[in-house]
Amino acid sequence: MTLTGKMLIGQQLICGNREAIRAINPATNAALEPAYLGGDGEYVAQACALAWTAFDPYRETSLEARATFLESIASHIEALGDELIERAIAETGLPPARIQGERGRTCGQLRTFARTVRAGEWLDVRVDTAQPQRQPLPRPDLRQRHIALGPVAVFGASNFPLAFSVAGGDTASALAAGCPVVVKAHGAHPGTSELVGRAMAQAVKACGLPEGVFSLLYGSGREVGIALVTDPRIKAVGFTGSRSGGIALTQAAQARPEPIPVYAEMSSINPVYLFPAALAARSEALAQGFVSSLTQGAGQFCTNPGLVIGVQGPDLDRFIRRAADLLPNCAAQTMLTPGISSAYDSGVGALTEHANLAATGLAANGPNQGQAHLFVTQASDFLANEHLQAEVFGAASLIVACASHEEVRQVSEHLEGQLTATLHLDENDLPSAKALLPVLERKAGRLLVNGWPTGVEVCEAMVHGGPYPATSDSRSTSVGTAAIQRFLRPVCYQDFPDALLPGALQHGNPLLLRRLLDGQREA
Ligand code: NAP
Repeated sequence: MTLTGKMLIGQQLICGNREAIRAINPATNAALEPAYLGGDGEYVAQACALAWTAFDPYRETSLEARATFLESIASHIEALGDELIERAIAETGLPPARIQGERGRTCGQLRTFARTVRAGEWLDVRVDTAQPQRQPLPRPDLRQRHIALGPVAVFGASNFPLAFSVAGGDTASALAAGCPVVVKAHGAHPGTSELVGRAMAQAVKACGLPEGVFSLLYGSGREVGIALVTDPRIKAVGFTGSRSGGIALTQAAQARPEPIPVYAEMSSINPVYLFPAALAARSEALAQGFVSSLTQGAGQFCTNPGLVIGVQGPDLDRFIRRAADLLPNCAAQTMLTPGISSAYDSGVGALTEHANLAATGLAANGPNQGQAHLFVTQASDFLANEHLQAEVFGAASLIVACASHEEVRQVSEHLEGQLTATLHLDENDLPSAKALLPVLERKAGRLLVNGWPTGVEVCEAMVHGGPYPATSDSRSTSVGTAAIQRFLRPVCYQDFPDALLPGALQHGNPLLLRRLLDGQREA
């Protein structure tokens, strides 16, 4: 497929009128063809108008038709073959195995949402039948289902060019809910975005859906992004990226005459707790697991273990020594963009100023290389210094040595909201872990035992979310099938004749849903 450098507004390939965006191969700093001219508010309005026209027909497509559409997107992405893999590697510097794995995850995610759509549980049908004889007042017939919120704006993430970009988790869950999607492509991988966007447009056409179900825009966040979030036809936003970007979009959404929800996944340092018995039994193995989680993908994961907390003593010292021995063998890796690489260098600079450097990875050789860094500090310093809690996006981590369990608790209470908290423990650690658990439940969206936070399973029970600033709305997840809930709202139908009810609510239950009928779940 020849890349055109154009936006996709419905089925139309359209050239923008603003400054050109050109992908940079971060491994070489070479600019890649073609140039993508950004759009302005006019293009945003066109895409949103089409999305609005598509909304009512799309949200009432049958469960089967919508599931087939999601599967068709996956098949069209797979049909792009090596061209997609090669372009994504060139635009991100990520290794082939990672990009291939991410394509598998993206298509698997779309097919998982297709199964979710078919099962229909997300409609959450509740029926309270009429009780005309009830005293003192009769009860009307009340029926509830969930419907789609409306067109959704999705911001492609730089660190997941497939799985959290044009056809990634936000898009898949919004489409599954019945919401048309307008994507603002991330400027770091415009060609990958075009390839996937065109595969999506082909799926829209193949499934006979209204063209406004999907559009793809290029341009600056401050112009196209804000115009999108403030367009009255957009009813929700999905975002993964920086805290400042997430806050700007949330504020713009809240300042609208009609405020809308923004699901922004922003910033997390993912504390890892090393409990004493676990440290005594296997500090060296823990150090090995930690270093490999820290350096995976140049540390460019929102779940990267950026903070390690333990009680000081010889076992924690052994952990630090082993990690410090291992780190110098870790090669520097190409980071996603020159901007992310320089943000990492400044974050490391700030940590160098405020904490003790324990070890570094192999020195960088070439442009945009992220060199791993490990720092150590005392809990009292951590508690007194806000700089030590800032996310450094990349393979940098800080070990906090605490004087006691009480200090572990104080450090935990001091933490901002997190995506994850990890507990390494043995049998003898259970009482102290149990004591800490209420704090960690308040702080994080996913709690893990004896594992590492990187690697997020796409499944029914996953929570990839957490209190601010991990996300802008802790009541939801952006990974896993529960992500569909973000784009739904309940509607109740009172005393409707059967002929006027949607299929999901009709008396005969034609969709064979497991409804909550008069307080009892149907078999
Ligand atoms: P970003 O700067 O937040 O950009 C993400 C998207 O948001 C882009 O489309 C960007 O538009 C838009 N945007 C950013 N600021 C905006 C604003 N003030 N108003 C409107 N739109 C705005 O994220 P990034 O480019 O991926 O990486 C930058 C930093 O974000 C990293 O160094 C890292 O610290 C953090 N990050 C965190 C995660 C995570 O999962 N926690 C993931 C990725 C990045 P433009 O096209 O104008 O840039």
